Amino acid sequence: MAATGILAGRTALITGAGSGIGKAICSVFAREGAAIAAVDISKDAALQTIDNLPTRPSISHHAYCADVSVSGSVNDLILNVQTSFNTIPTIAVNSAGITRDTAMLKMSEEDFDKVMDVNLKGTFLVNQALSRAIISAGVTNASIVNISSISGKTGNRGQANYSASKAGVIGLTKTAAMELARKGIRVNAVLPGFTETPMTDVVPDKIKQMVTMLIPMGRMGKPEEIAEACLFLASDRSSYITGCALEVTGGLFA
Ligand code: NAP
Repeated sequence: MAATGILAGRTALITGAGSGIGKAICSVFAREGAAIAAVDISKDAALQTIDNLPTRPSISHHAYCADVSVSGSVNDLILNVQTSFNTIPTIAVNSAGITRDTAMLKMSEEDFDKVMDVNLKGTFLVNQALSRAIISAGVTNASIVNISSISGKTGNRGQANYSASKAGVIGLTKTAAMELARKGIRVNAVLPGFTETPMTDVVPDKIKQMVTMLIPMGRMGKPEEIAEACLFLASDRSSYITGCALEVTGGLFA
């Protein structure tokens, strides 16, 4: 039976697929008929994600270990994905990300660089390597979604490195959108607000309560709610949208 769903026939590469938002994106995209290339710095985490995906007879999902902040690792990844699926992914979501929070006056150069390397440079490397492969393959309908953050728009205390990296992701996305539009590749950003994932599990309850009070909808987001916004931007339902920064925040700092 042929796959059904708005991503039927598409292959989607998702980074940060072993946890939180990336994991939810794999699940929502697989529900919509995509074959999933789940990428994480931990192969075991990526494998666990694909083990839990809905199975369909004609579709296989694969797990990959890659460090998005290292160009050699990203280039190998694109080749490996192309080999195992025998096609190039025409959808990608860059969800790999880290935090190293502390006040700017105390922040080490190492913590600044690490966050920029994974969140911003990693997103750049995947956008560049995948776009090159898509263009070489002659594909003219592709969509890349970069996960930024509302902190990239507003700044956030204790997150000088993270906010700067996520603001950079918005600038990167808008530039890539301009450069790639006539090559058939749309590039958009999603700015999640405060979302329930392992990344925010470590935030003290008192801070969570304070932030939640600022959210007009009065609650944190669920990873699946971010994933549904990514689905719209990844699919042809958003065929005339490129270079946008879509906020999914329950109204926080709208
Ligand atoms: P998460 O649960 O920590 O998931 C991120 C995943 O990326 C983890 O599996 C992580 O592995 C992996 N990763 C880290 N460094 C990597 C690297 N160099 N190469 C490949 N994979 C790597 O976090 P999340 O909350 O789902 O966040 C997903 C994205 O949403 C991030 O870009 C984050 O900045 C963004 N975001 C999250 C929130 C929120 O409230 N949760 C809000 C706004 C934006 P390890 O666990 O081993 O590090």
